Amino acid sequence: MYGAGDVRVENVPDPKIQQPTDAIVRVLRSCVCGSDLWPYASMPAAEHGERMGHEFLGVVEETGSDVSALQAGDLVLAPFVWSDNTCEFCREGLHTSCLHGGLWARDGLDGGQGEAARVPQAQGTLVKLPVGEDSALLTSLLTLSDVFCTGHHCAVTAGVGPRSTVTVVGDGAVGLSAVLAARRLGAERVILMGRHKDRTDLGRDFGATDVVPERGDEGIVRVRELTGGHGTHTVLECVGTLPALHMSIGAVRPGGTISRVGAPQYPEVPLGFPEFMNNITLTGGVAPARAYIEELLPDILEGRIEPGRVFDRTVGLDEVPDGYRAMADREALKVLVKP
Ligand SMILES: [Zn+2]
Repeated sequence: MYGAGDVRVENVPDPKIQQPTDAIVRVLRSCVCGSDLWPYASMPAAEHGERMGHEFLGVVEETGSDVSALQAGDLVLAPFVWSDNTCEFCREGLHTSCLHGGLWARDGLDGGQGEAARVPQAQGTLVKLPVGEDSALLTSLLTLSDVFCTGHHCAVTAGVGPRSTVTVVGDGAVGLSAVLAARRLGAERVILMGRHKDRTDLGRDFGATDVVPERGDEGIVRVRELTGGHGTHTVLECVGTLPALHMSIGAVRPGGTISRVGAPQYPEVPLGFPEFMNNITLTGGVAPARAYIEELLPDILEGRIEPGRVFDRTVGLDEVPDGYRAMADREALKVLVKP
């Protein structure tokens, strides 16, 4: 990405093993993230492009000498930060704060939107997938690198469980994933706030019991009408804007919890005296996808959930710029990249 609206496909040198803990992965599936749309809207024009992509799965081609648990030919999933899976934060399930980890596509590292990537800390980062290259499950498995784990993280940090009532703010791929995750955790009622009918229809398939297309104060009134005037126990904020947070504060029940997983596009949170008096908790943050993969994997392998339904367009590498455009124009919900 060279700047707002400027994504180019270029040839770069093939990745090579640099550290004994590295692996080289040939990418089979990748995708464009909703969070990639923030720089796509606002990145200042630059002379040198930034590599892109932090969600991918593929086949191990080569391993460094310290990588004993993986070998060439393994089909693996890469979660959206790399991590050693052994430090004190990883052991607490917070791989996004790994002492020896980091982000894809930074500091010269490859991104997932490409043909191949060097994976640092490969043994801690990569998760072997027990399927073949031609598996029909690859699309749903790819969601474990970020989008479905992010929805799950939102529901988990909000404390969603059996009998919970839940409001999900946002009908993007993360919001719909949060609906699916909340129902998987036993939520009794899930109110989806979104105004794109094709998306909220998928939300209903994922288990939303109610859809509220109104926004702002009108939306808050609708959620309160649906819940005896009180709001829901939990609100899953999957957008990242201040208006979305305002709706969340308006829709949460006294004693309730708001979890944010939309990357916040604002520096301050308006939690004042009324929220204090109502004992509102604000939680959430970037999802440590690596911590959830083993738990969520069987539900996909055994067909109980199909989170890959959020992908509604597939492009090859040459069409990635148009994939960004389609997502930015709300023409596509989430774009799968098949190099
Ligand atoms: Zn770690």
